[in-house]
Amino acid sequence: MSMEIPYKIYLEESEMPKAWYNLRADMKEKPAPLLDPQTHQPATLDMLSAVFCRELAEQELNDTEPYIEIPAEIRNFYKMFRPSPLVRAYCLEKQLGTPAKIYYKFEGNNTSGSHKLNSAIAQAYYAKKQGLKGVTTETGAGQWGTALSMACSYFGLDCKVFMVKVSYEQKPFRREVMRTYGASVTPSPSETTAIGRKILAEHPGTGGSLGCAVSEAVECAVSNEGYRYVLGSVLNQVLLHQTVIGLETKTALEKYGVKPDILIGCAGGGSNLGGLISPFVGEKLRGEADYKFIAVEPASCPSLTRGKYAYDYADTGRICPLAKMYTLGADYIPAPNHAGGLRYHGMNTTLSALRDRGILDAVSYKQTEVFEAAVQFARVEGILPAPESSHAIRAAIDEAMKCKETGEEKTIVFGLTGTGYFDLYGYQKFNDGLLENYVPTDAELAESLSKLPNI
Ligand SMILES: *Cc1c(COP(=O)(O)O)cnc(C)c1O
Repeated sequence: MSMEIPYKIYLEESEMPKAWYNLRADMKEKPAPLLDPQTHQPATLDMLSAVFCRELAEQELNDTEPYIEIPAEIRNFYKMFRPSPLVRAYCLEKQLGTPAKIYYKFEGNNTSGSHKLNSAIAQAYYAKKQGLKGVTTETGAGQWGTALSMACSYFGLDCKVFMVKVSYEQKPFRREVMRTYGASVTPSPSETTAIGRKILAEHPGTGGSLGCAVSEAVECAVSNEGYRYVLGSVLNQVLLHQTVIGLETKTALEKYGVKPDILIGCAGGGSNLGGLISPFVGEKLRGEADYKFIAVEPASCPSLTRGKYAYDYADTGRICPLAKMYTLGADYIPAPNHAGGLRYHGMNTTLSALRDRGILDAVSYKQTEVFEAAVQFARVEGILPAPESSHAIRAAIDEAMKCKETGEEKTIVFGLTGTGYFDLYGYQKFNDGLLENYVPTDAELAESLSKLPNI
């Protein structure tokens, strides 16, 4: 039986997931544990709770429970912008002349403009429930800071954001959205923390990095009573919250009897990709179905394609727990790339384990290839995609073109994580033909990887 597939598959509110799916519960061999950076012993709940909200620390360590209930307060907030549509890219398919069927799950339909609000609201909820005054965080491109400031204002929490200095200067409008939602925004590195002062002394005039902003935000949380640090990607708790993306996608596809062959997502710290593919990876691990999973990253920050699977520091300041992950080295400072959300040196531990076991494929693209795909997509599908999301578009187009050669009618699903209204500086450079590609040499990567801790 075949049903006509609409352009947009919307779910009813009643079809939204009531629990997040914890993929680690279905992994026989668990991802390697986080380690205390001093003792190198597995991180405990007490240790993590000093930095993170307690319930979030519990979620971080939980690798046995497959479903974790989404509290009603969070589900109610989700209803303001979810379920998000699953769109059939009929116009793109037609333009490509491919027999492939392309779908994208669009997460840009909220003011923060990305999927990050899915986890921000959950983290703000647990902070509020614990009776905290506020939270601290870092933001690179600004999407996470925006999402968190929206979530904090909803629950009446203070929100202190350390924003990578180059972004702070390049993206004044992102900064103003955060301030409008009541957050305080500090350019990082700053004089407000010991680590910030140290970095400024060593590298005067630096534009900052994500790793350095993380260190400042953590220091600020642990030195202020009633504050905890929250993170917008990389951690398993974040990936867990983002499974609303994959669970909705699965329900929507099942509603129309569609079975995907390939699932694609861009990968910065891994949260949207992990959230999209988790329910499908679970099926694969349980032997119920088979899929191909593709992570897409920038050639300028290629952790999954050229990094090493090893324990590494999560931040430049080396105060966060150590994680076993695909990494380029904690001191690796990626060259400027307009996909700011994909500039992290490491990758989520669960996705790293899947990659190591051959379940997750990975590809990388140069900026110009990504912007070409972004423009092609925008012109036929209407949405102006974020540069991060456009990595997934690039890979989806390439997979669809392979189908054109072979005549295979594969079904491709990709995550369209957000919109690009605050990335017009990047689009401007592309339109003016001034966008440059940066690809690290093997020697540069080897240099940064030579500093991995010996564990
Ligand atoms: C942050 C961000 C990403 C990358 O983060 P992940 O944790 O890897 O998902 C991708 N797309 C957009 C729009 C983002 O804001």
